[in-house]
Amino acid sequence: MEKKPKWNTNLFEHYYNREITKEDRLRIKERVLDSLANFYHSDIFARIRDIEPVSWKPIEQFQSFKIDDYTIGLKIDFAIDIDGNLEIHDWKTGKEDESNIEQLICYALYGEQKWGYNLDNITLKLFYLNDNRIEEYKVSPEQKSEVIDNIIKNCQTMQSLLADPDNNIANKDNFPMIENLNVCKWCFFQEICYGGSVE
Ligand code: SF4
Repeated sequence: MEKKPKWNTNLFEHYYNREITKEDRLRIKERVLDSLANFYHSDIFARIRDIEPVSWKPIEQFQSFKIDDYTIGLKIDFAIDIDGNLEIHDWKTGKEDESNIEQLICYALYGEQKWGYNLDNITLKLFYLNDNRIEEYKVSPEQKSEVIDNIIKNCQTMQSLLADPDNNIANKDNFPMIENLNVCKWCFFQEICYGGSVE
């Protein structure tokens, strides 16, 4: 597992010895089964099955593109070309969140820049699997500018925190640890900060 992290799923609760109650296990199992059933019986899946894979765009691959001088990394769940129009799909198992839309707009920017589609010809489909609900969006020029501005602003903020921005080098002394162990207990990086599991 440690030698090939890319090919193994590290489960947080197992890794950090967190107790999982039987109720939690059952609840999560139901959620997974419901999500799978909703996807399997959806119109979207029926449509995808009807379309030749030659129209599919690369799935679940790490991709990148540039905004200003910044390299933006992303991994699109699924995208498909239908008669010269691009559909970008994202499946969510969690709740609705404003950041989901921003993430999809970022995918649309990728589709525009790397695959050469006009924004008008791109449709975004957000499938909330557990709720069995699909939201569809088009991206307006205003939304495009807003998301680009946000990305640039966030990149600049992160860069301003580096000790040596030109060489992308940070100094860990500039990032003090927080003191609330209840937060650390659920943090993926606790082993690095505490050498093991926070109790
Ligand atoms: S364990 Fe996580 S939340 Fe806590 S100090 Fe380290 S990085 Fe921050």
